[in-house]
Amino acid sequence: MNEPNTVLSPPRILVVEDEPKTRESLAEGLRMEEWEVRTVGTAEAAIAMLEQIAFDLVILDWMLPQKDGIDVLRQVRGRGLTVPVLMLTARTALPDRVEGLDSGADDYLLKPFAFAELVARCRALLRRPSAGVERLLRCSDLQLDTRARVAMRGEKEIALTPREVDVLEYLLRHQGQIVTRAMLERDVWKQQHRMTSLDNVIDVQIMRLRRKVDGDGAERLIQTIRGVGYRIARESA
Ligand code: CA
Repeated sequence: MNEPNTVLSPPRILVVEDEPKTRESLAEGLRMEEWEVRTVGTAEAAIAMLEQIAFDLVILDWMLPQKDGIDVLRQVRGRGLTVPVLMLTARTALPDRVEGLDSGADDYLLKPFAFAELVARCRALLRRPSAGVERLLRCSDLQLDTRARVAMRGEKEIALTPREVDVLEYLLRHQGQIVTRAMLERDVWKQQHRMTSLDNVIDVQIMRLRRKVDGDGAERLIQTIRGVGYRIARESA
């Protein structure tokens, strides 16, 4: 058995599928993998949920009523979300797949598919390090090169500690979403089930990071959501 503080939460998966039977059987199967699964049936609901909650993977049906899966992709990628997306599609025509790739899907599965194949693709996407997603993360004139681990605000480099880089990357990868202290504790500090909370440590860390990132009277990007956590976003957003 692992030590309690090395146990990580199960991956969070969002299933977007309008056909109730398919949606429920997908969710049921994925829960058998002990993954945490949420389901929605429309593009609007998917977009709304992705704004609220950070997911590790999205399984997105192409054909949805009204707005389709591509609309969801365009919208979430347009807002800077880098969550891996596996598209499900009954279409086999090449132009469609090209369109999906251009819109930011990470992988495809053609319907009908074997469930084991879906799970294998999900595992591959969940394992994929951040190299699979964008190297340069941006919010307004803030930019983080995740490989070189260099942050810039406009033309000016920001001197950050390794932990501050980790926190900033995490906020930027969940841009526009509320990041709770529990998420930071689990995913950045990699600690869970501690006897004492890390809340104060996290608050101090964010305060320092904010001073460096937003300090020079620039647009304030790191926002505090009282009683909940933090969010990085453009001030106007
Ligand atoms: Ca459908």
